[in-house]
Amino acid sequence: PLILGIESSCDETGVGIVRGNELLANEVASSMEQHIRFGGVVPEVASRAHLEAMVPVLEAATSKAGIDLSELDGIAVTAGPGLMGALVVGLSAAKALASWLGKPLYGVNHLAGHVAVDLLEHGDLPMPCGALLVSGGHTSLLKVTSIADGITEVGSTIDDAAGEAYDKVARLLGLPYPGGPVIDKAAARGNPAAIRFPRGLTARHDMAKHRFDYSFSGLKTAVSRWVETEQQAGREVPVDDVAASFQEAVADVLTAKAVDLCREYGLEHFLIGGGVAANSRLRTLLAERMEAAGVELRRPRPGLCTDNGAMIAALGVQVVKAGLRPSSMDIGADSGLPVTTVLV
Ligand code: ATP
Ligand code: MG
Ligand code: FE
Repeated sequence: PLILGIESSCDETGVGIVRGNELLANEVASSMEQHIRFGGVVPEVASRAHLEAMVPVLEAATSKAGIDLSELDGIAVTAGPGLMGALVVGLSAAKALASWLGKPLYGVNHLAGHVAVDLLEHGDLPMPCGALLVSGGHTSLLKVTSIADGITEVGSTIDDAAGEAYDKVARLLGLPYPGGPVIDKAAARGNPAAIRFPRGLTARHDMAKHRFDYSFSGLKTAVSRWVETEQQAGREVPVDDVAASFQEAVADVLTAKAVDLCREYGLEHFLIGGGVAANSRLRTLLAERMEAAGVELRRPRPGLCTDNGAMIAALGVQVVKAGLRPSSMDIGADSGLPVTTVLV
């Protein structure tokens, strides 16, 4: 099937066009520049930017793919989770396009899109597989038997998402927003063993109840206390070492529990997705540990990890292949859509 996917859940306006597992176009416009001075995404600003970018991005994607819209087998769009006002812009565009072309509409889950995108780079995914979804708003360990209708959540963060922790730690180190890419860069210059920061929910008494869950708020507090102590003592904060040590703590706990999940459920394949899956340390440590555990690891290239339209189109293809019914034209956006609801 040939599917056009529209993404607008946060600050990226994305349109992707996919035929089967083949990526034909992936155009993204970001309003990130407009949010930097606020230190986070401002919903009203994001919605307006989506409105302005939607048609140009749609046109760029269709011309890049060299297709005629009449050839499409359907329109897939992010129905949630995300910012309400931002989601509505993409959903309205998708509905207009679907009804004008007389094509089926598929309102799909943004998080499942992060899981599906690897198909475009490495082909069909062997099932069952485990997956780590690490993004700006979510951190979950998943068991997947079918991307279209078989995602179960085995564990998730009980407080902050990993990406959120990156963004908060960057702020307290005086680094710009978004924190992920900047900390990744600073960490490359620092010593990851300089400071031993805590690994959340790994103590024996926590593992009994939270074996596959994560917690990052204690880590953030530990970094904040450490930095304050240095500042009060009049010492210069070694930003690169703090960044490297923080990043090591995040990558260590994320990968340790992922390997544990594969062992517990006998999973031979594992996949990562979401914006934080672009992190260089997470990628190498996970590769090392999965190889040692005899698990085959799938990592989409960093450019596909962050929000884009291709991931939504890739998921749309899976939903069509699974023979699922298209969405009603009346569907609304759902800002809190759970990862287990792939199609609305
Ligand atoms: P969600 O997918 O949960 O709705 P989102 O769409 O806002 O949230 P993504 O675009 O998937 O999130 O990811 C953005 C997050 O990824 C940000 O928190 C950003 O700091 C983080 N990130 C991006 N690149 C890196 C990197 N190299 N290392 C660590 N974190 C990164
Ligand atoms: Mg974004
Ligand atoms: Fe995302």
